[in-house]
Amino acid sequence: MGTPDDDRLDEVVRAVDAGFDDARLALEDLVRIASISADPDRQADVQHSADATASYVESCGLESVRLATVPGCPPAVIAEWSGAASSDGNAPTVLLYAHHDVQPPGYEERWESDPFEPVARDGRLYGRGTADDKAGAVAHGAMLKAWLDTAGALPCNVKVLIEGEEEIGSPHLSAFLAEYADDLAADVLLLADAGNWSVGTPGLTYSLRGLAGGDVRVSMLDSPLHSGMAGGVVPDPALALARLLDSMVDEHGDVAIDGFWDDVRAPSAEERARIAALPVDEDRLRAAWGVLPGVELAGDPAVSVYERLWHRPALTVLGVDTHPIEGSSNQIVASAAARLSFRVAPGQDPARLNRLVADHVAKHTPWGIDVRFDPHEAVPAWSCEPEGWAFDAAGRALTAGFGTPPVHMGVGGTIPFVGPFADAYGGIPVLMLGPADPHSRIHGEDESLHLDDWRKLMISEALLLRELADASP
Ligand SMILES: [Zn+2]
Repeated sequence: MGTPDDDRLDEVVRAVDAGFDDARLALEDLVRIASISADPDRQADVQHSADATASYVESCGLESVRLATVPGCPPAVIAEWSGAASSDGNAPTVLLYAHHDVQPPGYEERWESDPFEPVARDGRLYGRGTADDKAGAVAHGAMLKAWLDTAGALPCNVKVLIEGEEEIGSPHLSAFLAEYADDLAADVLLLADAGNWSVGTPGLTYSLRGLAGGDVRVSMLDSPLHSGMAGGVVPDPALALARLLDSMVDEHGDVAIDGFWDDVRAPSAEERARIAALPVDEDRLRAAWGVLPGVELAGDPAVSVYERLWHRPALTVLGVDTHPIEGSSNQIVASAAARLSFRVAPGQDPARLNRLVADHVAKHTPWGIDVRFDPHEAVPAWSCEPEGWAFDAAGRALTAGFGTPPVHMGVGGTIPFVGPFADAYGGIPVLMLGPADPHSRIHGEDESLHLDDWRKLMISEALLLRELADASP
């Protein structure tokens, strides 16, 4: 007890606490910027968000802060700090990742408060991007500032990447990584874009699902047709679409497209053991998700909920175009379309899945109606074994920061950056922490951040830099 190092760490933790209110103000300013990467009308906001994020990162003491882009790519923020001196002259370099773009707000009238005007209620901060992932960007900055203000240096060399197109599947990722390979090279990747197991219990995420999918459109008429004059003889494209969608799933809602499951990698013995060790509390999950009473959960009920969420594919219909109910009249619509999103399981090749979907669509659209499928993004899943020096360091830091050890968990969502980045630098360790929790409703309405867990995340990250510097081989 009481070594100079311990005193130094205590000082850093106190500085995180002392700086917390400022960090929160910085987060609130960023949340006010509607940096919706999916909305072409919001390009200026995404640019503004990148500028504001860069200013914040610079105010935390980072160096060489700049905006980075490749043609067509919303700007990312890159920064670094490279003055770490270790006893053997070999301090590790840690890349800190987050993203500053956000999802669209969805139905704004269903938000209890304006999605772009952050408001605190019951210890949570509400607003789009509070948890996903502006809190991640600010957590990185705030804990680096605490280190630099107290110790004047960081225990590791650090690079920072705050991406601007994560929420649209990072379509420029490979060009970006090629262009900025040297600027981003690191020994460990630390993301603050995942989340905690529950409020108060940290998570350490070791697997992500991928993404496939696209738009399917059935067309039949040049223009709408009187349903009284033609209905019963001329087929209805909306019904054709409904039958086509229905043919894609079984009675549980599991994907039922021919060959779709052929490349799903079965969970390893270690993965199964980790899942079996987790408490399964469906009622807690249902409450956190807001599933209404009486609604059955989807997927094969013989398979555990977490295996369904982390190791199996899933189909979601993101949107349907026919005629809106309001203003509709007695007409057969001319065409109907749906946007399909497949979460891709570990092992699956998303480009192959999109080809299977195209084949399925061609075979299962009824009544000879013209159909086309335009594939969108194709991102594979990613997973690793959560062991080794970096994971051990993260385990110690999170245990100290939260006062309870982390749960090793998967996530059903996708972060396209992780796999290509880890591969580009020879399979470096990836540590996924984050500010979200099951109540955060990320991508949904009333997104929120648990403020005290966010503070604990900052402290854990601050401690983790020290742990990584000490544990690095
Ligand atoms: Zn995110």
